[in-house]
Amino acid sequence: MATALALILSSCGETKKEEKSSLKIGQNTTEIVASSGTALALSGNDMMQYDKNELMAKAGEKITLTFRHVGQLDKRVMGHNFVLLKPGTNITGFANEAASAGAAADWIPNDGAQVIAHTKMLGGGQTDVITFDAPEPGVYDFICSFPGHSGMMRGTLTIAP
Ligand code: ZN
Repeated sequence: MATALALILSSCGETKKEEKSSLKIGQNTTEIVASSGTALALSGNDMMQYDKNELMAKAGEKITLTFRHVGQLDKRVMGHNFVLLKPGTNITGFANEAASAGAAADWIPNDGAQVIAHTKMLGGGQTDVITFDAPEPGVYDFICSFPGHSGMMRGTLTIAP
């Protein structure tokens, strides 16, 4: 019995070894994909907070951002989005314009002229996924453009060379 078990174990061990080597090939493939793309995740809650205020990526990469509203409140009350601003954009000025643009423009003023990328405005439980090309190396501001939120809901996306 013990011998049989040992045999099973050793054959299991061999199988595992084979799996490991095939897994390695898989990992290499993943690494190739990862080097040309970055997956970022961000969420907002009913307390008017992002879960993080610093995001990082590399220049030239495709960025896939998954943005979640993990709260429960309606988007008309506690809407959240992710708006990545072009360099030199004044946050307060932009937020005021966004408030004027209103829900009809999904809180994005000037047809997005000052925006690199943005998600839809979300309510509790909703998710939006966007993909965009990482801009030039630098530090970029992102905010939630719902009226009154950019004071608390802001952060930076750092693009490394
Ligand atoms: Zn918000």
